[in-house]
Amino acid sequence: MQGITFPGDRTAVLKDFPRPEPGPGEAVVRVKASGMCGSDLHFYRGTVSFGGGADTIQGHEPCGVVDAVGPGVTPDTATVGDRVMVHHYWGCDACAHCRTGWPQMCDRENGHTVSITTHGGHAPYLVVPARTLLPLPDALSYEAGAAIGCGTGTAWGGIRRLGDIGGTTLVVMGQGPVGLSGTMFASALGARVVAVDVKDARLERARAFGASEVINSAQADLAETIADLTGGRGADVILETSGVAGADALTILGKWGRACFIGLPGEVSFRTEQQYKKQWTLMTSWTMSTVEQARCADFAVEHRLPVDDLYTHRWSLGQAAEAYRWFDEQADGKGVFVL
Ligand SMILES: [Zn+2]
Ligand SMILES: [Zn+2]
Repeated sequence: MQGITFPGDRTAVLKDFPRPEPGPGEAVVRVKASGMCGSDLHFYRGTVSFGGGADTIQGHEPCGVVDAVGPGVTPDTATVGDRVMVHHYWGCDACAHCRTGWPQMCDRENGHTVSITTHGGHAPYLVVPARTLLPLPDALSYEAGAAIGCGTGTAWGGIRRLGDIGGTTLVVMGQGPVGLSGTMFASALGARVVAVDVKDARLERARAFGASEVINSAQADLAETIADLTGGRGADVILETSGVAGADALTILGKWGRACFIGLPGEVSFRTEQQYKKQWTLMTSWTMSTVEQARCADFAVEHRLPVDDLYTHRWSLGQAAEAYRWFDEQADGKGVFVL
């Protein structure tokens, strides 16, 4: 079979790999959809030193059907034919973080991440420990399950960290695929969502995903506009997804405000003596637990959320070079490889 690799010089190259066989405790997934996530670009561009992009199949948003299971996998864990999402990490399975569904935070630091330390989903088949698989609800497409596997699930994780948001004025900074997902979830949870970006096309899409108001922060004064929209109170809640607007976020966060910073690289700083009377709660969030990934999928079904509409581009594996050239420009939307 062929899978997409990143030599690290802004190219995406198809290479031959043996079709994987399941070992003890493992399952092989026949990949049906494999999403493109913003963090792929670190490896595509060669801007990080870890990971084996040239020899490792890329893609950490795989979704598909169980094709084969290895010895010791019980039917409760995985059965051939199951529609599945993948929680794309695994750890020791014994520490407190692994046991509570956070294997990416494994205390023994001997964990694996799909597409970094093991082969990813940009290929027809993927082998993972069966315990990383989560059921894909019948009402969700494989493309939706792929998005929930990282980008959309990351937005969900951030929103869940923020706690009760119903009735708040919630500002989502950045309307790329993660921010747009945040807009979708926050509006479904009853927040009044103000979407911020510097591209009008992204703001138009944000309206379709539930934003009550949109602000192009390259054209309008963000702090003034938020003050106008809130009677001078400022934002109750902020989800920062752009990775570059941390400082702006603090200029619009009101008293008792809560803000979650999920965009990378991101930089947030403030002087306590200037801000302590605002009683802020500031937090970070890293993707989502196994439990929250499954909950995110169920929520999307229960609220009939338009997860498929997050995608603006669908590609075949053979279009890898073109697909990542497009994605590298970060001008628009989200792509997915459909197999
Ligand atoms: Zn562990
Ligand atoms: Zn990702």
